Amino acid sequence: MRTFAYARADSVERAVDAQHAQQAGAFVAGGTLLLDLVKLDVMRPQQVTDISALPMKEVAFVDDDRLRIGALVTNTDLAHHPDVRQHYPLLSQAILNGASTQIRNMASTGGNLMQRTRCPYFRDVAAACNKREPGSGCDAMQGINRMHAVLGGSEHCIAVHPSDMCVALAAIGATVTLQGPDGTRDVDFGNFHRLPGETPHQEQDITDDELIVALTLAPPLAPQGAAYVKLRDRASYEFALAAAGAMISLDGDMIGEARLALGGVATKPWRCAEAEEILRGQPAETATFERAAEAALADAQPLEHNAFKVPLARQAIVRALRDATRDAKEGHA
Ligand code: SF4
Repeated sequence: MRTFAYARADSVERAVDAQHAQQAGAFVAGGTLLLDLVKLDVMRPQQVTDISALPMKEVAFVDDDRLRIGALVTNTDLAHHPDVRQHYPLLSQAILNGASTQIRNMASTGGNLMQRTRCPYFRDVAAACNKREPGSGCDAMQGINRMHAVLGGSEHCIAVHPSDMCVALAAIGATVTLQGPDGTRDVDFGNFHRLPGETPHQEQDITDDELIVALTLAPPLAPQGAAYVKLRDRASYEFALAAAGAMISLDGDMIGEARLALGGVATKPWRCAEAEEILRGQPAETATFERAAEAALADAQPLEHNAFKVPLARQAIVRALRDATRDAKEGHA
């Protein structure tokens, strides 16, 4: 492992200034991903700024109906927070489907947004990977691509975004607040993660010297039902082959509002706007859910080894919508 300088920041401003002064710096909070990638020689920071002591651990409603989450709130604390469990159950469910208890205890909200892909070629410095080494090629294209994306890929990268939490955030809607050397700015969550296009190494709308300080959720649907369905090779501590997060509000037997997002099949957290349109105002029944699932996967481009993800994702969608409907009928909120 390469050595790096380490400093502990005592304010957000000083953390950002320290990063601004570096050519190859990195922030560390829980360290659940950065340290793995440093050990693998995939990331090579010369200076690591520890932000774990900064005051960004609050969860509270602002403007009466939008939940603001500090970037250092751990995944465990967020999943079990009473306001999240009551008003944003999809977020709680998605987080608890991710990683392991130990990792959730350390991983931060901001770090989850900055997760890197689990593409094995990205993590193998002997492989060609445009995301790790721009212009070097992509060994996944002709390699073992069973785990890779069927939505949102390009000829330069087909890596899946790995986060469960971000699937829920895509469905809920949120604003990401960044602090940089010149102040703060807000980015819509739907635009925060980028499609790979020709620049798969540019993964988020954030510069090297900006720090995520908070996430503010859109007002909750009420009353709502929610369900997160994650299909994977084993029952725990595994990334999704296909996942669906759904929120439904009902008007009698008809769907009022619907939100749907996918994980495990796309290069970024994947909001299914067309499928949501199909759902609104329609009977809350299997035939409607199947039409929405068809629409959500209509643009899928399967590769040699991952065509099975298309029907798998459709099943995840139908199940998530069915479970969310049942939850709404039982009067979750
Ligand atoms: Fe790299 Fe993306 Fe290709 Fe994986 S899919 S090897 S991350 S360029």
